[in-house]
Amino acid sequence: MTVYPDYYKEFECIKGECRHNCCIGWEIEIDSDTAEKYKSVGGELGDRLKRCIDWNEPCFILGENERCPFLNGDNLCDIIIGLGEDKLCGICADHPRFKNELPDRTEIGLGLCCEAAADLILRQKHKVGLVLDGDSPCDDSIINLRDAIIDTLQDREFSVFERLENMLWLCGEDNFVVDIKNWADRLYNLERLDEAWTNRINTLKTPIDFEGYADYIKNYECEYEQLAVYFIYRHFANAPDGDSCIKRAKFAALAVNIIYALGAAEFTLRGELSFDRRVDIARAFSSEIEYSDENLYTIIDSL
Ligand code: SF4
Repeated sequence: MTVYPDYYKEFECIKGECRHNCCIGWEIEIDSDTAEKYKSVGGELGDRLKRCIDWNEPCFILGENERCPFLNGDNLCDIIIGLGEDKLCGICADHPRFKNELPDRTEIGLGLCCEAAADLILRQKHKVGLVLDGDSPCDDSIINLRDAIIDTLQDREFSVFERLENMLWLCGEDNFVVDIKNWADRLYNLERLDEAWTNRINTLKTPIDFEGYADYIKNYECEYEQLAVYFIYRHFANAPDGDSCIKRAKFAALAVNIIYALGAAEFTLRGELSFDRRVDIARAFSSEIEYSDENLYTIIDSL
């Protein structure tokens, strides 16, 4: 059975218009089947493939500013242009989609580090549902708990922060407080992908008008619901044991708190915060924390 959020099929890469292209700054490994196929490509593109791939542990040799060597001046992919989309390696073909293999199901979704995916996720106004495609699932206590958590996170009778507390209570945790200034220091000491993230972290150390932001954001609070549901859907059920599930619920609560605080801090400095900027904050958090295994597990292990 395959499971996916109901907005999943609406995703479209914005290609050349993307400001944080996934072909810049990330190491891109090439699966062995694709590497073999690339070896047999002839002509000018074949020569480039031979030159621009590290064949020892196949991956693209990133160029200036850590650009993929096949990302052209229009920010389009020369491999797609020259060979077709079906000739991409696994990572390039899948991104920004993620996949969690669970005992009775494969769960897929869109990663928040992609700006088009983040835009799509935050744009959802309804209570996002999970589409179950295939045979009926087994009765699984972790999935049942996650379903209950998602219901709790979507209970609009409560504020988003009350819902996060209710989620933790469901997991048996009633004493989780996020001290933002302390977390600013902890984030500062983690691995960095983009120096712009440092500036964002620094805003957390300035006075923040949380009350003003709560008032400003009240009609868009559902964006934080979508984020909470995203983090729980993606990280909760594939934890190795029950203890890790609780840590992952705390991670979801922490992630929403930090993304909210970054928004409130930027609102305090600018006096406004557009939807695009709110999307960009969520994208940046995901790129820097969620998509760095080192950072993600340093945080989860500490919770
Ligand atoms: S980050 Fe997303 S929108 Fe941007 S190029 Fe990659 S897949 Fe496309």
